[in-house]
Amino acid sequence: MWIEIADKSGFCFGVERAIRLTEEAAERFGEVWTSGPLIHNPIVTKSLEKKGVHIADNVESAAGKPLVIRSHGVSAQTGIKAAELCAEVIDATCPFVAKIHKIVSETSAEAVVVLGDRTHPEVIGIMGHAVGRVYACAGADDIEGLFTRGELSDNEDVALVVQTTFDRGRFEEYSERIARNHSRVKIYDTICHATSERQRNAEELAKRAALMIVVGGRSSSNTGALAAICARHCRTVFAESAADIPRQILSGLRSDSLIGITAGASTPVYTIKEVHERMNEEIRSVNENEEDFAALLEADQSFIKLRNGMRVKATVVSVSDREVCVEVGAKQTGYIACEELTNNPEAVAAVVKVGDVIDAIVIKVDDSTGTAALSKKRVDTALSLEKMMAVKDANETIEGVVSNVVKGGVIVFSDNTRIFIPASQTGIPRNGSLDVLLKQTVKLKIIEVNDQRGGRVVGSIKLANKEVRDAERAKFWENIEVGQKFVGEVRSIEDYGVFVDIGAVDGLVRTSELTWNRVGHPKDIVKIGDKINVIVKSYDPEKKRVSLSAKDPDDNPWTKFIDEYSKGDVIKATIVSITEFGAFAQIIPGVDGLIHISQISTERVNNIASVLSVGQEVEVKIIEIDTEKNRVSLSIKALMEETASDDSDDEE
Ligand code: SF4
Repeated sequence: MWIEIADKSGFCFGVERAIRLTEEAAERFGEVWTSGPLIHNPIVTKSLEKKGVHIADNVESAAGKPLVIRSHGVSAQTGIKAAELCAEVIDATCPFVAKIHKIVSETSAEAVVVLGDRTHPEVIGIMGHAVGRVYACAGADDIEGLFTRGELSDNEDVALVVQTTFDRGRFEEYSERIARNHSRVKIYDTICHATSERQRNAEELAKRAALMIVVGGRSSSNTGALAAICARHCRTVFAESAADIPRQILSGLRSDSLIGITAGASTPVYTIKEVHERMNEEIRSVNENEEDFAALLEADQSFIKLRNGMRVKATVVSVSDREVCVEVGAKQTGYIACEELTNNPEAVAAVVKVGDVIDAIVIKVDDSTGTAALSKKRVDTALSLEKMMAVKDANETIEGVVSNVVKGGVIVFSDNTRIFIPASQTGIPRNGSLDVLLKQTVKLKIIEVNDQRGGRVVGSIKLANKEVRDAERAKFWENIEVGQKFVGEVRSIEDYGVFVDIGAVDGLVRTSELTWNRVGHPKDIVKIGDKINVIVKSYDPEKKRVSLSAKDPDDNPWTKFIDEYSKGDVIKATIVSITEFGAFAQIIPGVDGLIHISQISTERVNNIASVLSVGQEVEVKIIEIDTEKNRVSLSIKALMEETASDDSDDEE
């Protein structure tokens, strides 16, 4: 004979969670009250009592005290009353049950049917969330009865939910029948995953076994369902503890019989072990076999023995707002609290999903509750510290997202590693607001990794930006050429010209190079922030200086002047300025000619302003063109002399 324990037996996720939340609350408050027995297992209830966990018969009896709402949940009204009366309410309602509350309270159906045990607290709580008519039914006959009596009608919508621990086989049979007969009944399969798995495992084992021992509290609904399933396939014994197993239970069984053990979701692992040991004794006495089955269990390769600090592969079996339940191949139920999941509070939901296999470290094994607390964050932290150390040593640049502004700097998350950037390393000026960085993806360098200070990692955005700028500058000086064109931004305006940002460096456009026309002051032409087209005139890589011109060679007025005008031409020009030595007259925009004081008149001119004025149009003769210096000399006097000469010729 040999013994096999069903793969999924003992505490489920919801029970383990409720016990943990209750113990934490008892530790915090000294004593805590639960809304009825926390779970349907007298052994666990007794052990919790020793830890300061008391049972409150109703919410009123817990007035002014901390109250835990057990995994079965309570009605909406009880929840409101608890919030009003109790000092603190710790809601340990299993998320699978809470999901049913949501369906029932939000359905638009005229009536709700809860398939389950009407006396069970979970069913009572679910019914207390319905806003309209609600009925509890034990099976399909009960539901049909509602239609026969006219309490439900085929002309209305009906929502049907099922108790989380209901027998899956029966549920499938009932729901098929109801769906066939009543098209307006919407059926929600709300049997929880843990229950389905347990039932499937127990049934598979019961089919091969000659005897099944089902361990759990007598009032536990899910344990009762397991017993009913097993009883369909083999002889089944229900045991709350090892003491319930009768002597000579194996009599009459063949010597090669398989004995199966399964346990309800509220059965602690030590009770399963006790039952297992008790069955070993029976086998030994029957076969007079001295084989130590307890030792076999310890050595069983299908269970690993967990110890604190051990690194394990964990498979995610469920994810909730507060924790992740994992399977680690041990007898204990593994869980990872959200705060042990990741350093990045905003990434909790994205970190894992059901079915993921992750690396985790065991932080606390609790055999009294059959649970093991694990941490993914600590494994990740160790790995990320190694990675950050390598990034720092290699002076690599990494990317991250700024998650929040804290005292003295900002926090960046890169690959879920938390990195502190001091304000001085953000690249934001001293009095600037760090808020502009929020939610931005930034490049950064790692400047400190300190595993002595809880894995503190410090980074610098400024250094990464500088590296980018330095590289751009080096590339700029490598590729710069006279005549290269840029679109630059005016950064500052001086009396002698403007500085223009052309990417990697700022170049100078002298005033005379801003336009082909005469300019009084650069600010008459441009303002800070203007984008202008510039051409490199010259550069000095040693002094890191670039001279630019904003004049477009294609618009060079000199080219036009040379094409259209020649020495000796008589033209009209407009006086644009007057100096001590003469007057400048514009021939075409961008080309002015000088009428020297000696060329203004055949008479001697002492005061030019008494003869010419700005804006005056005059007739002049082009007497000289200097194409090298781009200078034009004009003369009024030459025309006057020609006129005088013509007049004397006429007189002759
Ligand atoms: Fe939650 Fe399912 Fe456990 Fe009930 S049996 S507490 S619904 S996980």
